[in-house]
Amino acid sequence: MDKTRAVSFKKVNKYYNEFHALKNISFDIPKNSIVGLIGANGSGKTTMIKCLLNYYDDYSGEITVFGEKNKSIAQEDNIFAYIPDTPVYYEELTVNEHLDFISRMYKTEGKVEKLKKDFQLESHLNKFPHELSKGNRQKLLICCALLRDYKLLIADEPFSGLDPRQLNNLRERFLELKNKGKTIILSTHLLALIENLCDYYIMIDKGNLIGVGTVQEILAKTPDCKNLEDLYLHLSEGGEED
Ligand code: ATP
Repeated sequence: MDKTRAVSFKKVNKYYNEFHALKNISFDIPKNSIVGLIGANGSGKTTMIKCLLNYYDDYSGEITVFGEKNKSIAQEDNIFAYIPDTPVYYEELTVNEHLDFISRMYKTEGKVEKLKKDFQLESHLNKFPHELSKGNRQKLLICCALLRDYKLLIADEPFSGLDPRQLNNLRERFLELKNKGKTIILSTHLLALIENLCDYYIMIDKGNLIGVGTVQEILAKTPDCKNLEDLYLHLSEGGEED
């Protein structure tokens, strides 16, 4: 049992009926790092995240999180915080009530004021989710995740809908969280934004792992590519399985 690793996938395969969505995926992520999960649309990023989070348990192989099998991790162990790609809100609660409810549930009331300020939500506190702009809804979703007690933050397209200032703000928040000892996995297509943010990258294409490591390690194995953007275009040529 290796507790220096935040996450290990060992020969993970996941099918949706006949469709082979994850093909024998193996990799390790060290603790206290920021990891970029990159791949073309439909390549399997969200599927990988959902296996990691135990949304799906019908995969083969093994996934461990901080040395424990993920299938044995309980909600009350407070390991995961998740920013989903498809937002989920309580339509009957205001912004303030969301933050109040979640912070009381996780006894993290002390974090609320800073988050409201960092994400400039102060003037929207009495609004319901349907009254918010797309970007402000995304900021609420992010704050709800960050209010949890957790060791591993998994963010699926977290930059979606954010303006340039807020993109930069979220990037800074990720660095701040890493400095506080958190491990962060983020899936995004905004490669220029994460090029100098992530310590490691996991690259998938049509359910296959095609690269893992630091950007220098991956580029060394991909002589035609000069940076992450190049790699992405290279991956996108693959696109989805027919
Ligand atoms: P994107 O960048 O577009 O969000 P992704 O890399 O996150 O894509 P996934 O959502 O993991 O991709 O999908 C991987 C493949 O699995 C796709 O071909 C998708 O159509 C298929 N898939 C995903 N969810 C299901 C499901 N519930 N049932 C059947 N097929 C699915």
